[in-house]
Amino acid sequence: MVYKLEEKLKGIIIGSKDYKEKDKISTLFTIEKGLVNVVFKGVKSPNAKLKVAKEIFCFGEYLITNKNNYSIVIGCDMIDSFFNLSQDIDKYMEACAILCIVKDICKYGQQDVALFLELLTALKVLAYENAPKKSVIVKFLIRIFETMGYKLNLNKCAVCGNDFFGKRYFCLDTGEICCVGCKEINTIEISAESHTILRIISNTDYNKLTSLKFKFIDCFNLMKFNYKLRFNKEVQNF
Ligand SMILES: [Zn+2]
Repeated sequence: MVYKLEEKLKGIIIGSKDYKEKDKISTLFTIEKGLVNVVFKGVKSPNAKLKVAKEIFCFGEYLITNKNNYSIVIGCDMIDSFFNLSQDIDKYMEACAILCIVKDICKYGQQDVALFLELLTALKVLAYENAPKKSVIVKFLIRIFETMGYKLNLNKCAVCGNDFFGKRYFCLDTGEICCVGCKEINTIEISAESHTILRIISNTDYNKLTSLKFKFIDCFNLMKFNYKLRFNKEVQNF
């Protein structure tokens, strides 16, 4: 008798690649088990039943059968395909970069509900609202630093704890922002505007990001630098 176990996993597809002639292997970020690799059989034909369910960003309840060490998707109740993301290249690239971060920091078989909810919220804002370009990924990075115990000090000097006045400096060793009195050799000056935008994004909920009006968010580079420093990974360029 063949051992067969079916399970339902709620998740978002965060990566997908071709497998054999007609199949796909996708990385599903699930609420229940963190990352799981799943196989979609015969989904490359245009009228395949699970055609949409295999696409990146698709959020659904996946019915999976575990067979010979493979998790094969046999059904999906789709909750949201986030189809809008593919209609806007800027939003699409920002969302893809966020998926890459999730892939980098999340582990296979290890539940991370906080990160899952963070991703879901970020995708919703990107897909259905018009937040300033790069504000969602900056917010996402600030939040994951926070939840993983690397909270950035943005409101006070990271070294002396005083309020900022005058120039601000970004420390290339710690990724923190300090005042003129605390600047050391390995620091670079950053603009007050860049620092202010970072603070505003940090203090604004995802669903209010749309109300912000910034033309250019250069603090994204500070967050990219910080990500590299803290996780030793690169944020995808876009
Ligand atoms: Zn200081």
